[in-house]
Amino acid sequence: MITETKQQLDRKSFHAVLEQHGLRLERQTPKILQLNTGRLCNLTCIHCHVNAGPKRKEIITRETIDRILDWLRPTDIDVVDLTGGTPEMVPDFRYLVESIRAMGKRVMVRCNLTILNEPGYTWVADFHAAHGVEIVASMPCYSPDNVNAQRGEGVFDSSISALQTLNQLGYGTDPALQLDLVYNPNGAKLPPPQAELEADYKRELKEHFDIVFNRLYAITNMPVARFTSYLKRNGHYADYLQLLRDSFNPGSVEGLMCRDTISVDWLGNVFDCDFNQQMAMHVGDGHQALALWDLDLDDWLRRPIRTGEHCFSCTAGQGSSCGGAVS
Ligand code: SF4
Ligand code: SF4
Repeated sequence: MITETKQQLDRKSFHAVLEQHGLRLERQTPKILQLNTGRLCNLTCIHCHVNAGPKRKEIITRETIDRILDWLRPTDIDVVDLTGGTPEMVPDFRYLVESIRAMGKRVMVRCNLTILNEPGYTWVADFHAAHGVEIVASMPCYSPDNVNAQRGEGVFDSSISALQTLNQLGYGTDPALQLDLVYNPNGAKLPPPQAELEADYKRELKEHFDIVFNRLYAITNMPVARFTSYLKRNGHYADYLQLLRDSFNPGSVEGLMCRDTISVDWLGNVFDCDFNQQMAMHVGDGHQALALWDLDLDDWLRRPIRTGEHCFSCTAGQGSSCGGAVS
């Protein structure tokens, strides 16, 4: 009998590791359209897998929005998850949200909170509340040091102020105004157990800032783009990849977001997830871009999901998706 050495196991592709566990990564009928509206952002966080920032020029146009809306309207996809960059900085953001809500579909926005306090964006909080936009807000810690270290000086205070504004509008208490927070570790480690962390966040934010929210999502940092540069600069890249592999959890595969989500970029091209999108791993043969408006949903279900080393981030420990832990 030939026994695989640890080195051989460590070279196995994500796909091969799934096979070894008798698992297959198969699509389900899509429930969520996750639209990345572009790379323009008011922040430059070190964990950013999009390399977003204030100087980025890539943002979605009205023409692309209209083509996406036309495709979306007759589908049964019920949720549109807007991410970026900072979606609220897109000039046609309000048009986009109003159009999706007019279809009776839900809108989630991955909001960095600080945008609520930026000059020219004071309309954001009221707009979100008026349109029942579900907010998923980055908040990597309930104390200032970690937040400012990851996201920039002053970000903690600005985020607290934004959360208080959202609470005043009913977010976190009104069932129609969902407010979820996102934790990600500060550095090359896995998130702690999500339920315990949520309890800590709720206690600390209530006690110190009188802030309430609905759920906490604990998300694993993805070794893509700026976070990869950070890991390499600090000599942690190889160790982090190994940690992700060593923490493979077969029970997380069932809940991976690529199974029921269609990811779309600011040009309208489709991907298996936002991470594959940032790595330019197009669906299908991986080289040819496929626009959403050329996508047939039956065909989509037959297309294999493209995987790579980065996929071990989604299956490490309690698993990780845009909705937090998956197992
Ligand atoms: S992590 Fe989010 S808020 Fe931070 S730079 Fe990237 S897109 Fe902007
Ligand atoms: S990185 Fe994307 S394709 Fe890979 S497991 Fe995660 S969600 Fe799926």
